[in-house]
Amino acid sequence: MSTETPAGERERADFIREIVAEDLRSGKHRTVVTRFPPEPNGYLHIGHAKSICLNFGIAREFGGRCHLRFDDTNPTKEEQEYIDAIEADVRWLGFDWGEHLYHASDYFEQLYAWAVHLVRAGKAYVDDLSADEIREHRGTLTEPGRDSPYRRRSIEENLDLFERMRKGEFPDGTRVLRAKIDMASGNINLRDPVLYRILHASHPRTGDAWCVYPTYDFAHGQSDAIEGVTHSICTLEFEDHRPLYDWFIENLPVPSRPRQYEFARLNLSYTVLSKRFLLRLVNDGRVRGWDDPRMPTISGIRRRGYPAEAIRDFAAMIGVAKRDSVVDVAMLEHCVRGVLNRKAARRFAVLRPLKVVIENYPEGWVEELDAANNPEDPTAGSRKVRFSRELWIEREDFMEDPPKKFYRLAPGREVRLRYAYFVTCRELVKNAAGEVVELRCTYDPATRGGDAPDGRRPKATLHWLSAAHAVPAEVRLYEHLFNRPDPGAEGDILTDINPGSEAALDGCLLEPSLAAVPVGETVQFERLGYFCPDPDSRPGHPVFNRTLTLKDTWVRILTKGQQDG
Ligand code: ATP
Ligand code: MG
Repeated sequence: MSTETPAGERERADFIREIVAEDLRSGKHRTVVTRFPPEPNGYLHIGHAKSICLNFGIAREFGGRCHLRFDDTNPTKEEQEYIDAIEADVRWLGFDWGEHLYHASDYFEQLYAWAVHLVRAGKAYVDDLSADEIREHRGTLTEPGRDSPYRRRSIEENLDLFERMRKGEFPDGTRVLRAKIDMASGNINLRDPVLYRILHASHPRTGDAWCVYPTYDFAHGQSDAIEGVTHSICTLEFEDHRPLYDWFIENLPVPSRPRQYEFARLNLSYTVLSKRFLLRLVNDGRVRGWDDPRMPTISGIRRRGYPAEAIRDFAAMIGVAKRDSVVDVAMLEHCVRGVLNRKAARRFAVLRPLKVVIENYPEGWVEELDAANNPEDPTAGSRKVRFSRELWIEREDFMEDPPKKFYRLAPGREVRLRYAYFVTCRELVKNAAGEVVELRCTYDPATRGGDAPDGRRPKATLHWLSAAHAVPAEVRLYEHLFNRPDPGAEGDILTDINPGSEAALDGCLLEPSLAAVPVGETVQFERLGYFCPDPDSRPGHPVFNRTLTLKDTWVRILTKGQQDG
């Protein structure tokens, strides 16, 4: 069965692309300008990848441009490490911002001037209430808010206090600048939102130049306007912020009028997509770091061996909707298998080795046999694999006392060794504990290459390695990080962590060519799954990660759905 992404599922038009197409057709905009605006307070995850594919994808498809803008308005949580990782991740996904790399901090001076503009217009004021008091005055969804006693300060007093806030005269948390909109608004975001807070903190880019920092709401839309962004695309939780976004654009002398559109964020089963929570996993040492192969971060996915192309396929397949839903993680894995099935080189590896001695094969002989690099891709050619008297096979490919449906090796039974010969198990060697440690077999020289002249066909074909030539390795097997599809749905998320999500196997064996596979390339270990070298590899000690097994559960879910419905 092919696991390729059906062509019809790619580049499907969605409501945002329809809006963009219409705005270009009608002449509302001559070119489309989008942006991806991460806050550098953590590594990007697969949810961000959806947004990156959308924003950069639209720019590419419609001949416009997409900016990368760091929303760096909170110096207490932001770090250069995150900035560097974000740039690397966007590039790895296959997108390029060209010269359009920006930072909200580039606009601090302009944003400050616009805040002063609002104060002068009587549309902003300095409030001395504490954060708790502001919250308490804000009201609820059913009750209007109450005016702060400082709301009626004179323009002169506000100008003076705001300037002194900037000069550093007041400690953190003692004052804020708020917009003066409507404390009774049905939309809580319009109840005099905070525009500036005092933070005596060093900023990765502006250093100690500032001790007042704009809020996300005040910085975001105006940054869009400065950059000439036409379509400011964000996730649904910002829908209620749109009236505020528009209020700033209407009340400030901004150079352009961007519009905000909201789409449903990506939620994935068995996965948590929240930078704050992922940071906690890293800080608590629950994972090997932000790029742990079990993490849903882009760097984790890369280390796990998922190709960037598969992430783009996935983004195209899930599309863009206006309603939140949970996507089955099996669909992401399906896209990964689709790409790897086409592209990954096939190799032999044995994870849990069992020795096989071919009694009628001459000692010291070595043969080189042809093995296809990728049966799905005839241009991939073939390689030589070495065969000799002593071999390794997978321990689970043998059973002393096989049940009915087990067709692999067993006493007296013949199987095919792929690209080599048919072998028959004649005798078992056991250790003192009674465990099988070696199989004594014979081979049929007439079956070289894998076919018998008399047409007989064994029911099983096994992978194998020549014992003298195999290279030892560590292999890390990965499963979902959580053991329930909806982590944290009942109680503490941390108790839903799957303790078996990583199993490191030592003493695995590889075909020699595998020692040369570079980090960043994923191969198929025949019959076992897709694997990639881990950056932990050292000379003489290769480490491989299991990207995925070969079993495509998404295809099974789809076929089952068709049968049921
Ligand atoms: P998190 O909720 O994981 O902390 P965030 O929204 O705080 O993420 P930002 O750096 O602000 O992270 O996000 C940058 C962009 O990525 C925003 O436009 C945001 O809407 C988008 N984004 C974040 N999470 C998702 C998601 N799960 N699906 C789609 N887009 C997302
Ligand atoms: Mg955010």
